[in-house]
Amino acid sequence: MVFQQFADKQIQQMLTLIDNALAAPRLRLRFDELLETQFEIETSAARSRMLVRQGIAAVLIYNALLVLDFFALSDVFWLAVVVRVGLFGSVMAVMLAVIWRNPPARVREGLLAVSALVAGAGVLILVLASSSQMRSNYHDGIMLVMLFVIALQHLRFSYAVPTTFGLMILHAAAVLAVDTITVQDKLAAIALTQALAGFALYADFTFEKNERHMWLRAFRDRLRAAVFEELAAADPMTGLGNRRAMEQWLGQLRGDRQGATISIVVVDIDYFKSYNDTFGHMQGDDCIRRIADILTDEARADDGRVFRFGGEEFVVVLVGREPEQTYAIAERMRLAVCAAGLPHKTKIGSGHVTCSFGFAIDTLVPDADLTALLTEADFSLYAAKKAGRNCVMPKPEDDDEFEVLDLDELLRDVG
Ligand code: GH3
Ligand code: MG
Ligand code: MG
Repeated sequence: MVFQQFADKQIQQMLTLIDNALAAPRLRLRFDELLETQFEIETSAARSRMLVRQGIAAVLIYNALLVLDFFALSDVFWLAVVVRVGLFGSVMAVMLAVIWRNPPARVREGLLAVSALVAGAGVLILVLASSSQMRSNYHDGIMLVMLFVIALQHLRFSYAVPTTFGLMILHAAAVLAVDTITVQDKLAAIALTQALAGFALYADFTFEKNERHMWLRAFRDRLRAAVFEELAAADPMTGLGNRRAMEQWLGQLRGDRQGATISIVVVDIDYFKSYNDTFGHMQGDDCIRRIADILTDEARADDGRVFRFGGEEFVVVLVGREPEQTYAIAERMRLAVCAAGLPHKTKIGSGHVTCSFGFAIDTLVPDADLTALLTEADFSLYAAKKAGRNCVMPKPEDDDEFEVLDLDELLRDVG
């Protein structure tokens, strides 16, 4: 099952949260806690990997600009080495090492924001320290940092807003610090960056909203598919898995428990047609439910799974049980049904509801023919019916080998 980690109720709760999130006001990005956690679980690893790849590219580009510094800011070249390699390089080394481990969202996005601000501050330091004529266009570098982190890396919007403001301040400081440009050009440069920041933030918001909505719809589809799968495999009357669920379970066992013994026990209520005829169909349904509960209780101790195979027939699947153990478990179930003392007024029967049991055993190998095993168990059930009902087949060759349970004693205990 795709969503084994969620109970049915949680799935319904998630579906409601998804509908609410899809209908939320346009400006709201963050989901409710439960949904936000799931969103992070499903998307954070891929985002962290992407950020690491882009982070490495950012370090290479930022340091490659040393070539430009060598010619343009020759008076502070060694400071540029310290800023680009030492300062930005070490911040990025820490950031990449942390993000590589896929940390919580606030750490990941926080580090991304810090790295952008450090990159911007590095440019400002160089502009302030240098007196080269060619430093007058260096503030554009801060604009590129902004575009890289907001429009390319899609820093989450709630972090992108303060980071963009921080970068705009650094940019304005770098523009104002240069005395070789006119006031008009300074104002134009600042205004251009502000417009760019607005576009970048708008793009960032739209991207995140779309990304979240796409994830919501995909998640909703998967949850609905899981609900349908669950419904298709459940028997609504008894709550047991149906034949389809049994086939899925057998397939799963064939893959997971190779080499183990598998026992298929087929159970059929005796003279059930006459039970219906006597008590009516509704009480017949109650009886099927009671038998389902009894079998489930008894199977639980041996990690067995009970399925409603159809009508008044059940299948119990046991793993790792030898023929003697399987016989003993089936016998215990048979006696538990007897002990329940559900009245049955048929003249042929024993006066209370009984069941017949047939079983067959095989080893779980990849090409094990479990359909044939089921047919074999069904033949055994037929033999049990022929032998007079209310018994387990195959009977062991030598009854002394088994711990034979005494029905009279058991009924006395129960009574
Ligand atoms: P046997 O001991 O040989 O098994 O006899 P039987 O009467 O139990 O077997 P038969 O197959 O002739 O009848 C099974 C009956 O089970 C017939 C059908 O009406 C009844 N039945 C099947 N499904 C349901 C159900 O969901 N509810 C009720 N109340 N009866 C059911
Ligand atoms: Mg029957
Ligand atoms: Mg039957």
